[in-house]
Amino acid sequence: MPGLFSYPFINNNLMPAKNIVYSQNGFNAKHVNIMSNDNQSIHEFDLNLICEYFSGVERQGPGSPEVTLKALGFIHHLTNKSRIADIGCGTGGQTMVLAQQIPGEITGIDLFPAFIDRFNGNAARLNLQDRVKGITGSMDNLPFQQSSLDLIWSEGAIYNIGFERGLNEWRKFLKTGGYIAVTEASWFTDERPAEIDSFWMDAYPEIDTIPAKLAQMQKAGYIPVATFILPEECWTEHFYVPQVAVQEAFLKKYAGNNSAEELVAYLQQEARLYDLYKAYYGYVFYIGMKI
Ligand code: SAH
Repeated sequence: MPGLFSYPFINNNLMPAKNIVYSQNGFNAKHVNIMSNDNQSIHEFDLNLICEYFSGVERQGPGSPEVTLKALGFIHHLTNKSRIADIGCGTGGQTMVLAQQIPGEITGIDLFPAFIDRFNGNAARLNLQDRVKGITGSMDNLPFQQSSLDLIWSEGAIYNIGFERGLNEWRKFLKTGGYIAVTEASWFTDERPAEIDSFWMDAYPEIDTIPAKLAQMQKAGYIPVATFILPEECWTEHFYVPQVAVQEAFLKKYAGNNSAEELVAYLQQEARLYDLYKAYYGYVFYIGMKI
């Protein structure tokens, strides 16, 4: 899925598995044959490459500060006692936007230690380190107490555990009346061209229409409070465009390196598909309140 990282969930192991490569759905064991063989050190190198590539951009998934703030506009009653979690926070692009707007303590959690280092560096640079902390961990094994959170945030990341499973499993960490705000890839139409359909079925078969996602949210025990589609510039200006310079530098630095070249080619293909088929899919913000 565009710009997304996923690691296979293997025994709640916090370390990414070694036999994974980048794919449209991020790192995915399923796609191991796309670019590699059984040499684990090559895969590890791939992982480092991907990490280096995405560390060079502010966001690791489509989104924008405006959209983060718009979603935040539907969430009420936060105070300096509020506890907030940003799950799959990456380097914290959206977390810092949140932190500058709302009181309370924010914990960012991500599987990738290099992203968390950057996250904490960003928090310190903005003088937010006293109430914004990044920790390494996995979204299928969160370190929070039951009914302790006022807000769970997750942009471009819940697909790693799956939308429905994430909504169900994370609910227990929220207080009653607490909010969840996540972005999730969704179909805009009931039908779509075969090329993009099979692409997504391979990348993230849980992609579904907006009403289907809303029904899952309701069933998981939330009132769906608001839903809106992320505008196109979240994909272009804020996600694919900043990657162009990274790609150039990357190809120069890793000239002749197959993994690096394939990674860039793959991401370029992702951007092309978005351009071709953006009428049929995109990211949607789903905001719910725990009942
Ligand atoms: N929220 C950020 C990053 C989105 S990319 C943004 O919008 O820019 C998805 C993020 O999920 C990556 O940073 C990736 O490392 C993280 N991730 C993948 N699998 C994870 C897991 N099992 N637990 C926690 N984070 C995970």
